[in-house]
Amino acid sequence: PAADPAAGSAVKAADRAHVFHSWSAQGLIDPLPIAGAEGSYFWDYDGNRYLDFSSQLVNTNIGHQHPKVVAAIQEQAGKLCTLAPGFAVDVRSEAARLIAERTPGDLDKIFFTNGGAEAVENAVRMARLHTGRAKVLSAYRSYHGATAAAINLTGDPRRWPSDTASAGVVHFWGPFLYRSPFHAETEQQECERALAHLEQTIAFEGPQSVAAIILETVPGTAGIMVPPAGYLAGVREICDRYGIVFILDEVMAGFGRTGAWFAADQFGVTPDLLTFAKGVNSGYVPLGGVAISAEIAATFDTRPYPGGLTYSGHPLACASAVATINAMAEERIVENAAEIGEKVIGPGLRAIAERHPSVGEVRGLGVFWALDLVKNKETREPLVPYNASGAANAPMAEFAAACKRGGLWPFVNMNRTHVVPACTITEAEAKEGLTALDEALTAADAHTH
Ligand code: PLP
Repeated sequence: PAADPAAGSAVKAADRAHVFHSWSAQGLIDPLPIAGAEGSYFWDYDGNRYLDFSSQLVNTNIGHQHPKVVAAIQEQAGKLCTLAPGFAVDVRSEAARLIAERTPGDLDKIFFTNGGAEAVENAVRMARLHTGRAKVLSAYRSYHGATAAAINLTGDPRRWPSDTASAGVVHFWGPFLYRSPFHAETEQQECERALAHLEQTIAFEGPQSVAAIILETVPGTAGIMVPPAGYLAGVREICDRYGIVFILDEVMAGFGRTGAWFAADQFGVTPDLLTFAKGVNSGYVPLGGVAISAEIAATFDTRPYPGGLTYSGHPLACASAVATINAMAEERIVENAAEIGEKVIGPGLRAIAERHPSVGEVRGLGVFWALDLVKNKETREPLVPYNASGAANAPMAEFAAACKRGGLWPFVNMNRTHVVPACTITEAEAKEGLTALDEALTAADAHTH
């Protein structure tokens, strides 16, 4: 693409005049103006092209500007842009069918939302009404969204400034062997101790007061901690024992990211409620939702469900979901994510870890990987302190800048970089990104001792 720096400057000036950005001190940010995107790449107005190893916010699973999805949105726009949620609409029914056919077990009813946080809000509401109980248990090192209940369920520092209405939310520790909260030495020990800790938390909270346990099947932004074998099955068993609703949040893990339609299937568990968003239509139009079990759906057969949204099941969003899911099936995109992860990204990252003193651990599956960056491999001291900002975060900022100079757009969170490209990424693109990452990690190595 031809460079047009003047156009880029105008876009940025207009942004700075009127756009109020998420999660940011408005006077301290410098948003990069973007001219376009296609497949695994996007580019700015200065002629720089970036390989997108972040999939934006880990949502463009099908890549940028997939022609079938673009065409479906255009076609739907010409036919019927919007309609209230109370009507039956062909594309909404079809999207619900395609999703329900892929969700695990008997999760066959779909409540549509505009995104992930609203999906979590509604899942929690359903669980509380279904059980008549108030408390919801969630994990530290988690992210569930930025609306009232979802941010309080979140187990990372994004919760702190909004932690005023956390009534009914109790946090516990999930398994994470590399930084084990249980001083475990093996995955099996970590699994057993994490389950015992969860059960004890429930006992001390009072099982009769716990409506739901919500977990990310594979925690995403908090560090891509693949759960040890048996952990999720153990949580399922605990939920069954105490009549607690099991909610799996697959907003980030679902729709191909882990190399399966849903990560729950890879771990052999069926939750009672499953939240999704992001990859359902790669974010081309805002969409999320809750997949609901037969038993919970039956609770609202004769009793009205007290929740709704003007744009629930929006036709443009549903048309893009139908096209996305069909394209993913036709083009074997989920299979590609699994294969690239197993054959290229996983081995590539492990080789990189051997070359760099700053890479403490490589973990992940599919196109869902994290590098845990450390000052020292022996002590595992994180490259930057937990929730560091400003000067304390300089090593990560330098690493991210080095990636960008090398044409790679990284996903960076605290002391980690995540390798989360599109599920459509080719072997050549993945190798190009790994080479750029390998070079950029030299900037992190400079801070090791
Ligand atoms: N749940 C998980 C696991 C997420 O990763 C996210 C967003 O990153 C959310 C919920 C919130 O989704 P949204 O930003 O669409 O509200």
